[in-house]
Amino acid sequence: MPELLYLNGEVMPLAEGKVSVEDRGFQFADGIYDVAAVYDGVPYELPEHVQRLFQSAAGIELAIPHTPAEVEGIARRLVADSGFPQCIVYIQVTRGHARRRHAFPPEVRPTLLLYVREFSGHPPENYTLGIRTITVPDDRWGRCHIKSIALLANVLAKERAHRAGAYEAIYYSPEGLVHEGSSSNVFCVLAGTVTTPPLSHKLLPGLTRRRLLVLAPKAGIPVAERELTLAELKAAQEVFITGTTSEVMPVRQVDDVIIGRGAPGPVSQRLRGLMLQHIRECCGGLRAPAHQPA
Ligand code: PMP
Repeated sequence: MPELLYLNGEVMPLAEGKVSVEDRGFQFADGIYDVAAVYDGVPYELPEHVQRLFQSAAGIELAIPHTPAEVEGIARRLVADSGFPQCIVYIQVTRGHARRRHAFPPEVRPTLLLYVREFSGHPPENYTLGIRTITVPDDRWGRCHIKSIALLANVLAKERAHRAGAYEAIYYSPEGLVHEGSSSNVFCVLAGTVTTPPLSHKLLPGLTRRRLLVLAPKAGIPVAERELTLAELKAAQEVFITGTTSEVMPVRQVDDVIIGRGAPGPVSQRLRGLMLQHIRECCGGLRAPAHQPA
């Protein structure tokens, strides 16, 4: 079964996709993207991902030559035709290909691509043991609320984490405030309250973050969106990260500091359970038994 690609109106095996070397995505990282997870063949919160894609596009003054409903339709068809029950759908729009010049070319058609890639989840021990993280100064641009394909700073931070034997790098400001992970949002539990930094240009408005901030209070777990210092993060009872593919992933270490008892805490596990329950209600299934809450 091939992983399928939609590229400007044509569908083909992913490996056969070709884009111009003068595509502005390739030369300037002039584009935006989004990623949705698929459980049992059903994309989770796809309209929300497509809506964020359009918001990101508006943020770089890029007009997508389709309606959100059309993009959603393309994604659903591609997922159905691929036949993978557990996968991700990646959506990217660049400003298109034109002779290389920094300013917007006068007539250019955006490049729209979507592809489906099989994904059966992260290693189960990330959830059963919790992950290690490092902290890094935030050296990204000033518009991190836009899901830009310009991810070089994130790539370098993630590589630094991996070289240190950690799974994620957590960004902080010169003032010592926590922003987010290189590919996730960051939460902690402080005096029983689930706390995460407020939305700003310093972090992506994560859809998993947003969902959790709805699910937790409904289950009687208090939440707070407020500025969070690195010192608070390291002293927290629990820390976890959220993301479309990570879902709710417990953190057992931040730099050389062990969080709580060095294992997934009760609130993180409960929230993970609530998240998986919501996914199950929306999509009717889960990727693998390893992802069931303990
Ligand atoms: N922040 C960054 C920088 C990310 O790349 C991601 C992953 N999309 C997130 C946060 C989490 O967002 P979401 O829950 O929508 O996947």
